[in-house]
Amino acid sequence: MKPVPYAMAELGFGLMRLPLTDPSDQTSIDLPQLEKMVDMYLDAGLDYFDTAYLYHGTCSESAIKKALVDRYPREKYRIATKLPIMKVSTPEEAESVFEEQLSKTGAGYFDSYLIHNVSENYWDNLIGCDAFAFVRRKKAEGKVKRIGFSFHSGPEMLEKVLREHPEMEFVQLQVNYLDMDDPAIESRKNLEVARSFGIPVIVMEPVKGGMLADVPAEARELFEEKSPESSAASWALRYVLGLDGVETVLSGMSSAEQMEDNLRTYSGFRKLDGDELETIEKAAEIINSKVAIKCTGCRYCMKDCPQDIRIADYFSLYNSECLCPPRLGWSIYRLYYRSKSRGHGKASDCLECGNCELNCPQGLPVIDYLKDVAEKMEK
Ligand code: SF4
Ligand code: SF4
Repeated sequence: MKPVPYAMAELGFGLMRLPLTDPSDQTSIDLPQLEKMVDMYLDAGLDYFDTAYLYHGTCSESAIKKALVDRYPREKYRIATKLPIMKVSTPEEAESVFEEQLSKTGAGYFDSYLIHNVSENYWDNLIGCDAFAFVRRKKAEGKVKRIGFSFHSGPEMLEKVLREHPEMEFVQLQVNYLDMDDPAIESRKNLEVARSFGIPVIVMEPVKGGMLADVPAEARELFEEKSPESSAASWALRYVLGLDGVETVLSGMSSAEQMEDNLRTYSGFRKLDGDELETIEKAAEIINSKVAIKCTGCRYCMKDCPQDIRIADYFSLYNSECLCPPRLGWSIYRLYYRSKSRGHGKASDCLECGNCELNCPQGLPVIDYLKDVAEKMEK
C-alpha cells in the first residue's frame, strides 16, 4: 500500500451486500468468498467493518463472526454495528437486542455503535427505547467505544439532532456524486450541517447501491477517455474519499473482484482535480438524462397542491428507485419516501385537480406519474 495522503478518508468494509450463494436468498452468505475478502481487506492495512442487526435478514453479524472474529485477534479490527430502532421500542428490547448482537458477533465489545436510521419514520421507537440514553449507557459500561447514528433525512432534522445530542461522536450519511444536490436526499446540505458541528462523517452508499458502478454507455466512455484503466465505481469512490470532513467511506462490496478494485482505488488514491470533477458532473448529467421522469425539481407544481404532495421529491426518489439495481426485500428510496411523506400528502392522496400540471413548465403529466410513484413506492 502507498502511504495515505494526509486527511484522506479511510475505506471501510460495509457488510450489507455480502456475496451470496443463492441470489434470491439474502441469508445465503458465501462464507469462503467473504473470508477471502476479509483477508484481502486486512492485508491492505485496513480494519473498519460496518454491520447491522438487520443486514442480510439478521445474518450479517453472525457471518462476520465466522469470517473475521473467529479468525483474527481482536486488536486487528474494529467493528461497528447498530441499534435497530425499526425493531425496538422499549429500553428492555434494546438491551435484549444488544446482548444478542454481542453474542452473534462474538466481538466482546463494539468499537462503534450507531442508532440505526435516525429519522421521522422511527421517531416514536427512538423515544420509546430512549435510544440516545441507551447508547450513552453502553459507552459508560465500556461495551461500546464510540457512539453515533446513521441518518436518512434532511438537514433541518440533522441540525436538531446534533444540537440536542452533542455526545454523538460521528454521523453516517448517504453521500455520492449523484445525490449531492438531489432534493430528496440532500447530501451536500447534510454534509455542510455535519461540518458546521465539526462532527466526523462516515459515508454510506458512495456508489449509490451499485448504480454508479454500472453507468450508461456514454458516461462510461467519458470515464474511459480520461482514464482507461479506472472503473466507473472507482470514480465514485474517489469523489467521496476526497471530500472534506469525511472520516470513513463504507463500500458495500459483494465480491473479491469488487474488493480488489476498491483497494486499488484506495491505495492509488489521488483527489479528483478540476478537470476530473467536470467529468463527474458530465457523467451525472448523462445519468440524470436517463431517468424515468424528466422533472427538473423546480417545485412550481407544489405551490397550489391542496394535498401538500411533495411532487418533486417523490419523482426524484422514484427515479433513483427505477435506476438502482434491485435489492431483495427492501429499498432505501422507499425508506426516504416514507420519511419525506410524513406530515404531507402521499402520491396516492392526489385528488387529480390538475393544479400541478397547469404550473409545470416541463408539461409533465404529473397526475399519471404520481400513480406510478404510488404503485412503486407505497407497496
Ligand atoms: S392533481 Fe394531485 S398532485 Fe396535482 S395539485 Fe392536484 S392534488 Fe396536488
Ligand atoms: S413543476 Fe414539473 S418540473 Fe417542476 S418540480 Fe414540478 S413536476 Fe418537476
